[in-house]
Amino acid sequence: MDATEAESPDSAVFMNRSAIWFSAYLAAGAADYFMESVVMAPRPLSLASGVALAALLSEGARIWPAILSSSLILLLLARHDASIYVQGIMAVGGALGITLGAIAAGGIVRRMVEAETPVGKVADLLVFIGFGAVLNGLIAGSIVAMSFAMAGQSEQLVGVWRAWFIADFLGALVLTPAILAWLHRADVPYSGERRTEALFLTILLSLFALIAMGPLAEFAGSVASHPLILALPLAWGALRFGAARASLWAVLVSLLVIWGTGQGYGAFNAVSVEHPLPGLQFAVFLIAITTLTAGAIATAQLRIEQTLVEANRRLGERVDERTQALRESEERLSNLSTIDDLTGASNRVYFLEMSKMEFYRARRYQRQLAVLMMDGDRFKNINDSYGHAAGDEVLKVLTETCQEVLRASDIFGRIGGEEFAATLPDTDLIGALEVAERLRQAVEDRKVEINGGMVGMTVSIGVAVISEATVEYEQLLKRADIALYQAKEAGRNKVIG
Ligand code: GH3
Ligand code: MG
Ligand code: MG
Repeated sequence: MDATEAESPDSAVFMNRSAIWFSAYLAAGAADYFMESVVMAPRPLSLASGVALAALLSEGARIWPAILSSSLILLLLARHDASIYVQGIMAVGGALGITLGAIAAGGIVRRMVEAETPVGKVADLLVFIGFGAVLNGLIAGSIVAMSFAMAGQSEQLVGVWRAWFIADFLGALVLTPAILAWLHRADVPYSGERRTEALFLTILLSLFALIAMGPLAEFAGSVASHPLILALPLAWGALRFGAARASLWAVLVSLLVIWGTGQGYGAFNAVSVEHPLPGLQFAVFLIAITTLTAGAIATAQLRIEQTLVEANRRLGERVDERTQALRESEERLSNLSTIDDLTGASNRVYFLEMSKMEFYRARRYQRQLAVLMMDGDRFKNINDSYGHAAGDEVLKVLTETCQEVLRASDIFGRIGGEEFAATLPDTDLIGALEVAERLRQAVEDRKVEINGGMVGMTVSIGVAVISEATVEYEQLLKRADIALYQAKEAGRNKVIG
């Protein structure tokens, strides 16, 4: 691998782009020759010149070798009746004129216009027309005229200068914005997916162009075939779709109008079959100028709309985020007041609140209701032997075990350190003792793995049930607590009711 290859991939990309612009210029030049030999001579505009300026605007001055070489090749291949010497000078002059014109015009526009395309704003468009297209034509025309003078063709000087100036100016005005807008579509806001409308407009424009200055003029009559009928659909398209589409439509309509006029149709041939060219060129100039201006105005509007839509979307996102955050903090707050952090069981406040509701319902409908009080046996020992964290883990597993045994309609909560309680609706003493015994057994059977060893625990449970005399829930709780105390007295790991 040598030094030049090591410089890639940047230089490889540039070589690629140079090759593309070189080919694009050759293709546009070939189209120009086709226009001149088949459609209309002298050519009303130079497509190649439009490509040259687009290349310089898009790539910067470093693209010049691609333009100089391709324009030189085309001009050398062009047939003239002059000597090789004269033809050589004119070809070199022409290629230099085209390249230098594009370098100067491209350089100034690039310096003055920030965007990738000069058609997205009216101010940019004015810079492009004034310093881009005009300068491009002026410099090219002047250098070509000078080379004609050097080749001893002085008598044609003014005519050559004017022809090159206008053709290069128009070529840049019509084709360059379209190429740039197409290359940098993202830079020019484009209003959505109205494909049907765009297609309809394209057909309408083609039809109107053929009516105004094409074979359909004969059927349309003099009023309908006035070139101004193109203004309406062009303005419509430009205002609805913005600069990128508008510049493409300007190219389409210009080429159709040139073709029709070249075939002998339309207003400019009606005025003068000998000299339709100035009228045609003026029409192309107006078509391009008005379409591009309307496109630039619409693009500014589209940009505002897009900014608004984007701002709205972001606002919506922010609102969603905030709503979500609010919901989460509400949830956290409500958990704080209802759930015990360590075990996930209901906390004391919530347990009492729920239990009281059940208690009053039971009293009112004369239903059964039972309360269990549960306390870990010798829980201090677990903490002392295995550490507080192990004790915490045991409490979590204890909670899980109890929740597995109890029904969903039972109320279970942690009411103190290792003290838990359950309120069982619709449960009499026999049922409550059964449940308590199941709980006691389940806890005894459950072992928790701590540091590789299995740790077990037991609980004592006191049971109390509602009676005619119980007016407050706290009375039930108190009786259950007394029963619990008796269970502890009786040796722990017991149920007493
Ligand atoms: P017993 O109830 O059988 O008489 O003996 P005990 O050792 O359980 O005694 P007591 O109920 O008086 O003490 C409860 C102990 O439980 C005190 C404390 O170390 C422990 N404990 C209370 N809450 C927690 C807790 O949240 N985490 C841990 N790891 N231990 C707790
Ligand atoms: Mg205890
Ligand atoms: Mg205790």
